[in-house]
Amino acid sequence: MLKQITRSFFSRPVTIAGPAAGADALKELAGKVDALARRRLGRSLAIREIDAGSCNGCELEIHALNNPIYDLERFGIRFVASPRHADVLLVTGPVSLNMQEAVLRTIAATPEPRWVVAAGDCACTGGLFAGSYACAGALESVVPVDLHIPGCPPTPLQLLEGLLALLEASAGRVIAASPKPAS
Ligand code: SF4
Repeated sequence: MLKQITRSFFSRPVTIAGPAAGADALKELAGKVDALARRRLGRSLAIREIDAGSCNGCELEIHALNNPIYDLERFGIRFVASPRHADVLLVTGPVSLNMQEAVLRTIAATPEPRWVVAAGDCACTGGLFAGSYACAGALESVVPVDLHIPGCPPTPLQLLEGLLALLEASAGRVIAASPKPAS
């Protein structure tokens, strides 16, 4: 035992170094998303995440957007707790039957203008869970979807690219910010 403890003091960690976050790409992408959101909405973007039945792999990547490496809030983009404060509903997982009603109610509670984004293969197509007796299917089979971000799971940069594409595509949409109801 003592031998093992002593050896652990001198051995190198066995973890593999993570991939570089692509600091320049992140700064550019997040800066563009924030600038576009301010132009379209008059303020920064608020995102409400909904786990509609995912394996949590997508959540890990979404959480990474707030970790010290990506630190999305420094660009003004933030996750909010209430759908009443959200511009974007970021939905992961296939829509499980148990979550279907909750997804519909959350979307109904989000004031216009709002965008619904399917994040990850499961939300886009049903993914691994397509055809399951416990799922209603892909998000689109339950509610209209404005943007699909494929990937299993999509990386933080792919999520940001998706949000940017969404804001760019919304250029033609009339989204003059309507007053949001109090929560
Ligand atoms: S897309 Fe992949 S990581 Fe995301 S919920 Fe489905 S199986 Fe999990």
